[in-house]
Amino acid sequence: MTATVTITKRGAQRAHARHSWIYRSDIVDHSSAQAGDVVRVIDPQKRMLGSALYSSRSQIALRMLTFEDIEINRGFWLSRLQFAERLREHVVRDTTAYRLIYGESDLLPSLILDRYNDCFVIQTLSQGMDALKQMWIELIAERYSPRAIVERNEARVRDLEGLPRATGVVYGSDPGEFVIEESGVKLNVNLVEGQKTGSFLDQRENRVAAGAYSRGRALDCFTYQGGFALHMAREAEQVIGVDVSAPAVAQARRNAELNGADNVTLVEANAFDLLREMEQAGERFDVINLDPPAFAKNRASIEGAMRGYKEINLRAMKMLTSGGTLITSTCSYHMSEETFMNVIAGAAADAGRGVQLIEKRMQARDHPVLISMPETYYLKCLILKVI
Ligand code: SAH
Repeated sequence: MTATVTITKRGAQRAHARHSWIYRSDIVDHSSAQAGDVVRVIDPQKRMLGSALYSSRSQIALRMLTFEDIEINRGFWLSRLQFAERLREHVVRDTTAYRLIYGESDLLPSLILDRYNDCFVIQTLSQGMDALKQMWIELIAERYSPRAIVERNEARVRDLEGLPRATGVVYGSDPGEFVIEESGVKLNVNLVEGQKTGSFLDQRENRVAAGAYSRGRALDCFTYQGGFALHMAREAEQVIGVDVSAPAVAQARRNAELNGADNVTLVEANAFDLLREMEQAGERFDVINLDPPAFAKNRASIEGAMRGYKEINLRAMKMLTSGGTLITSTCSYHMSEETFMNVIAGAAADAGRGVQLIEKRMQARDHPVLISMPETYYLKCLILKVI
């Protein structure tokens, strides 16, 4: 028997608005539900609202799977996967690595599935999705005959679910470091040891865009494995890539070599310090890319994050030649587009430069934004001309 959870009228309104998350404060009765169950969700009048994953620990008590009265079985999961596949067939171009399932946005809340050639990386980030992990591994194995499936279940949200952190190969054998290709740039990735799931797939389209704007002398701060720098290097005369992580810089160097990009120099440094030193030394660039880690991890840290974003953008603007291009990103959901634009405007004012907004970009199209759930829109990328 499927357990039933009753939610408040306010919770039901959220469900009607197709928000995927119902908070614990909107739960009226969960007495028949166990941690990680797939449950039926009803309103106070006992009207069926749909089915959800139930968490006994998180403040997000329910993650809605469907707003229809249908059975949740293997056929359901397969049809959701096929639906996600169809979007990627439509929008993913010229890459061997992409996000196949982006959780809530693909109506598969708390499930992330990335594809890297014939290998997959899975994240199951709630009790309910974690309970289905084996089912997903079997489904992926059957459908794609992968070389390996790796789990990267070390996200902090798992703590809130009372789930242990886990990383490693769950199917096949460890592929080690291997090469993916995006729009003609080759990148070594390591799915077990790399940052995130091995690569920052969400910036793929922005890396290509940054390449198209590049020329002359270019700087790529927070380069990680050199993705932006290598796209920029195809158009620019010289590119400097900077990252504070030694393994990242080492991998970026291997990637530069792999692409025969001898116009790329990689520097291990704190980008804040280096930007300050370069600015004081009067250095000039025609193109600068800024792709820092999420400075605002929660609402409380926005103030500090704004200072951080402002500082690096201000220094970059000061160092750009007239007509130079700044490509600047924030991957914090908590840094709204409006706030980010205000930070950029503040930096431009302090730099004493005229700044034109040329493009507003976002996370790549294999990370769609679910309109009913603003939480799924996190990455903002602005392309600006400094005059
Ligand atoms: N631009 C990359 C992704 C960047 S992720 C891409 O397209 O693939 C953010 C990177 O910033 C990480 O590699 C991290 O090591 C680096 N980083 C974090 N703090 C830093 C600092 N203060 N200075 C330089 N790099 C930093």
